[in-house]
Amino acid sequence: MLIDTHCHLHFDAFDPDREAVIARAREFGVKYLVNVGTDPATNEAAERLARGRDFMAFTAGLHPHHSHEVPDGAFDDLKKFVKEKKPAAIGEIGLDYFKSEADPQTQKKTFVKMLRLARENSLPVIVHSRNAFSDTLEILKNEGAGKMKGVMHCFSYDAESLGKLLDIGFLASFTCNLTFKNAGPLLEVARAAPLDRLMLETDSPYLAPQIYRGKRNEPSCLAHLAEFLARERGIGREKLEAVTSRTAADFFGFKISDE
Ligand SMILES: [Zn+2]
Ligand SMILES: [Zn+2]
Repeated sequence: MLIDTHCHLHFDAFDPDREAVIARAREFGVKYLVNVGTDPATNEAAERLARGRDFMAFTAGLHPHHSHEVPDGAFDDLKKFVKEKKPAAIGEIGLDYFKSEADPQTQKKTFVKMLRLARENSLPVIVHSRNAFSDTLEILKNEGAGKMKGVMHCFSYDAESLGKLLDIGFLASFTCNLTFKNAGPLLEVARAAPLDRLMLETDSPYLAPQIYRGKRNEPSCLAHLAEFLARERGIGREKLEAVTSRTAADFFGFKISDE
């Protein structure tokens, strides 16, 4: 039993065959899916897709790449959206200094606003952070990270950074990029990380596993990631799935039975 804690099935990439992709995910044991919004339009699309599907959750986010595109008025709409539609989390939000049209100051301002929105609504946060660990951590600490639930998705930093993230009570989520041929150092981090502080995700349509490198990723590939990481950690896949799914279910409020 798997939970894809971060995917974007509402993106255009899935327009041709979305229902088939969802069916395949369920065939491969993905019991729940979380569709993550990245700006006002994709938040709404994620919400629409989840309607009437009890195995699907959606979130409301403002990705650092879009942090400069939302004027203050639109931010009020976002607040209203959160109050009315009740997303499962706020995210993705965060900082990305790798390549972004938004400058760091704008990214930081938006990140802080979104963290406050999460706290006001007692919602967990999904943080995107690339080439920006120390700024991300500083802001999380300043904004009361200890008093909120959070995950850093597509974790891409070293073991020391992981330690600091876990120290503020956050979780780390790993994607199929662990299976890349050049994943060596990151894979070491994922192997040694405490199993009960991890979640799994695909970030579909991005980051297809090595076997499908360059193609579209989809939630059914989570089974491949679970198999891969269990083997790397030298544990059974069932154990890995049980522990990470329990963590994800608690984080997002999904109901699963412990067998
Ligand atoms: Zn992201
Ligand atoms: Zn994403």
